[in-house]
Amino acid sequence: MARLVMKFGGTSVADIDRIRNVARHVKREVDAGHEVAVVVSAMSGVTDQLLKLCETAAQKRHLLELREYDAVVATGEEVTAGLLAIALADLDINARSWQGWQLPIVTSGVHGSARILDVNGDELIRRFKERKEVAVVAGFQGVHKETGRVTTLGRGGSDTSAVAIAAAIRADRCDIYTDVDGVYTTDPRVVPRARRLDKVAFEEMLELASLGAKVLQVRSVELGMVHNVRIFVRSSFDAPETIDPHGNPPGTLICDEGEIMEQQTVTGIAFSRDEAQISVRQVQDKPGVAAAIFGPLAEANINVDMIVQNVSADGKTTDLTFTVPATDYQRSLDTIAKAKAAIGYSRLDGATDVAKISVIGIGMRSHAGVAAEAFRALAERSINIRAITTSEIKFSLLIDAAFTELAVRTLHSLYNLDSATA
Ligand code: ADP
Ligand code: ASP
Ligand code: MG
Repeated sequence: MARLVMKFGGTSVADIDRIRNVARHVKREVDAGHEVAVVVSAMSGVTDQLLKLCETAAQKRHLLELREYDAVVATGEEVTAGLLAIALADLDINARSWQGWQLPIVTSGVHGSARILDVNGDELIRRFKERKEVAVVAGFQGVHKETGRVTTLGRGGSDTSAVAIAAAIRADRCDIYTDVDGVYTTDPRVVPRARRLDKVAFEEMLELASLGAKVLQVRSVELGMVHNVRIFVRSSFDAPETIDPHGNPPGTLICDEGEIMEQQTVTGIAFSRDEAQISVRQVQDKPGVAAAIFGPLAEANINVDMIVQNVSADGKTTDLTFTVPATDYQRSLDTIAKAKAAIGYSRLDGATDVAKISVIGIGMRSHAGVAAEAFRALAERSINIRAITTSEIKFSLLIDAAFTELAVRTLHSLYNLDSATA
C-alpha cells in the first residue's frame, strides 16, 4: 500500500466526461489499496473567464481589489473538486471535497501570488485510516493566516498545492497528470521531435520551469526539492483501465541528481515570449547608476531578468540593457522615465517582440564551449542575439520573437535532442 497525491490540470478536467475519466484513474489506485488525495485545477478556460469578469467589473482597473480577485478566481477549483467528488461517489468511492481554508492550507498574504506556509494534513490522514476516504482538494488556493481571507498561488498554482499536500501527508509520490505524458526536451507542441525524458533533476526542472516550460509551476519544484517529494509527470489521457497500478507507466520522474545514471550535457530547451527589452542609452559610467535604475524598479515590484552593460569606450558613457516581464513593460518605462534626473541618460529604447531561449543541463558544469556552439548555429541561420546570460547549468539568449521556433529547433538538433522516430 502506498500513499499518493494525484493532481489533474485544467485540460484533464475540461468537461464532465473527462472528470469521469479522472474518477476512473482515482478508482484504479484506490482499488490497488492506495490512500489517495486528489488535487484538481479549474476546468480548462475557467480561470481565464473568471479573471476577465474581475477585469470587466473593475472599470477603474487600478482599483481592482486583489483580495476580491482571489475570492472570485479561487471558485474555479472549488467547482471541479465538488464535481469530482460526485463522480467518485458514482463509482461507489467514499470521497469528499476540500477547499483550501478547510484543511487549512495556510499562505502568505500576497494576494494573487501567495506562498504556501503550512498545510495541515492530519485530518486527511485520519480519514484515510478510519474511513478509507479519498480527499479531493481544490488546488491553487489557500487562506491568509492573519486575515482569514482566501488567497491564490499564481497561475499554474495547483501543481504547488499538490506538492505541498504530498509533503504534508508524507505521500510516497506526487503524480502530476496533464495533457502530455511527461517532461520533454522542449515543448512538444512546438517541436514535434522533442523527446520525453525519463528523469529530470530538481535543479534542471527548476530552470526549465522558471525559463518558460509551463508543465510545472516553479514553486512546486522548489517545494519538491526542499521536502524531497518524488514528482512524477504523466498523462491523464491514457485509458485508466489499461494502466497497471503496480507497473511502470510512461512519464517523467523529477528526482535528485544522484538518481540519474546517464547525464547528457544538455537536458532541455525552454523559451519564453513574455519578455520585453529596455535599453537605457548613454548613462554615465560611474558608481551608483545601476542602483539608480534598478532601485526604483525593485520598489515597483518589477522583476528584472537579463542585465547587460557594456564597458564604455570613452570612460564616460555606456548603454545598459535589461529585460522585464512583458506585462510590466510600460510600467518599467514609466518608472525609469520618472527617475531620469537621478539616473541621467540620453534616450530610452524598448522592444516587446523579443523572446528568451534557454539551454539547460547539469552536464554543462563540466563541459566548456556549449554556449559557443549555439552562437555559431544561430549565426548560420542569421539569427541575431540581443543579450546573453549564463549560469552554472544554463545559458539564455534574447532574440527577435519571430525567430523563436527556428532557434529552438536549431538548438534542439544541435544538442542531439531530436527523437529518432518523429
Ligand atoms: P495543466 O493544465 O495540466 O496544468 P499545463 O498547460 O499547465 O497543464 O502544462 C502542460 C503543457 O506544458 C503541455 O501541454 C505543453 O505544451 C507545455 N510544455 C512546455 N514545455 C514543456 C516540456 N518541456 N515538456 C512537456 N510539456 C511542456
Ligand atoms: N486554474 C489555475 C490556472 O489556470 C491554476 C492551475 O491550473 O494550476 O492558472
Ligand atoms: Mg499547469
